[in-house]
Amino acid sequence: MNRSYFVIGCFILSLILLSSCKLGESSNPPDVKTTFTPKGISAESKTKYNINLKMNSSEMFEVKANIDIINDSKDTWNELVFYLIPNIFTEMGRGTLTIQEIKIDGENAKYTLEEDNLKIQLESGLVSKGERSVEFSYKFTLPENGLRFTKNNGNLYLAQFYPMLATYRNHSWNKEDYRLQGETYHTGFSDFHVTYQLPEGYTLVSTSPNDSYPSRDKGTLQASQVKEFFIAILQNPSAIEKEVNQTNIRVFGFDEDTEFLKEITEIAADVLTYFEKTIGQYPYDQIDIVLDGMSMEYPGIVTAHSIDNTALPPDLLKKTVVHELAHQWFYGIISNDPYHEAWLDEGFAEFATYLYAYSRPNRNVPYEELYRMIAGLESMPVNLSLDEYGGRTSYIYLKSTVMLWKLFEQRGGLKEAEEFLKTYYDYYKFKEVNSKEFIRFTKYYFNLKDDSAFKEWLQLNSGVGRTSTLYTVLF
Ligand SMILES: [Zn+2]
Repeated sequence: MNRSYFVIGCFILSLILLSSCKLGESSNPPDVKTTFTPKGISAESKTKYNINLKMNSSEMFEVKANIDIINDSKDTWNELVFYLIPNIFTEMGRGTLTIQEIKIDGENAKYTLEEDNLKIQLESGLVSKGERSVEFSYKFTLPENGLRFTKNNGNLYLAQFYPMLATYRNHSWNKEDYRLQGETYHTGFSDFHVTYQLPEGYTLVSTSPNDSYPSRDKGTLQASQVKEFFIAILQNPSAIEKEVNQTNIRVFGFDEDTEFLKEITEIAADVLTYFEKTIGQYPYDQIDIVLDGMSMEYPGIVTAHSIDNTALPPDLLKKTVVHELAHQWFYGIISNDPYHEAWLDEGFAEFATYLYAYSRPNRNVPYEELYRMIAGLESMPVNLSLDEYGGRTSYIYLKSTVMLWKLFEQRGGLKEAEEFLKTYYDYYKFKEVNSKEFIRFTKYYFNLKDDSAFKEWLQLNSGVGRTSTLYTVLF
């Protein structure tokens, strides 16, 4: 996700990334404990999505989605709660959505749909470990000016186009209202089986590692253990493919010249190599970079072109590609709730972006410049929910990144940051973390006796599913 002040931050950061400054921290050997047991946060459900998608020549989509759900909580559920984000745009008068039917285990289901809240009543409760199969039939057209779920430049972007089961925690559904800023949806890891049919003249790229370019007009896509499934249906892209460490990198461009596409491909190859070496393996066979639309991360595929509809200048676009690729590790593989804990993917993605830049020969971490950048961001911590910032997401993006650097300044610097990320990834891949767990891990990793390293930037009593509370200034 990206915001306008994030752009300003990025410009400043790009300048810093281009300059090398202060040297010097001691490089203490990592003190990795083998007895630490990570505690991931459960989605409290297990889900399998079977989706059949048909697009006709008028760009109308027909979807049949079958979702198998296991209740992995201890409670009996009387309703199932989904995000149905296409309805947001319908309610705004953009695009169309018609639900034909919703069935549970073959029987018509009662449901309500308001904004993106789709609630399905369960006539007989779903007990712990019980299973239900929900079938959805619906049609939609994409809005021209949606958000992620949108049509742009003749291309069709199907983000969050299917009903996505919300996470369940603390005995209730963890479903917040949709917002146009930030990612307000949170889902568990799931398996996807998608069949599709397209009219002539389009090619499809997606979260699936098994789609090929150009795509056939119909086919089957699969993805395992991903948070969501994104599909881009493109018209006449230019494409470059390059295999690095058994991962196929594909870059899709539209107005860019071939040299620029090659440059983006080389950056992506270099970053992928660095992140795999430094953080851990990218677990899928393919990564797609689509240079169009709003810059955004999805599992196995990212878009990078604009922020708030303004095309990025080339240097910032390159930096954005690195940021979006970093999200594959922080969001895609280590999960977090992007509504209540957005800093855990945005801050870490930015941190990894800087780490990549600062790790180059003759570069150092410019701590003083980093601290100057967060002057004025003292009043709030970085781990509040999206609705508590009133749009001031520089806390989520910028302050969190700089405070992560601060954690390492006196504790081994860049080399230790690399070791830390490797250990963090090893412990938390395919798990969800929250601030509390991050603190627990970090205290263990550095053998910290108290919480003083976090007081300046993290609200220490935060936890999953907490309701919005106004933050009282503690410092
Ligand atoms: Zn981001």
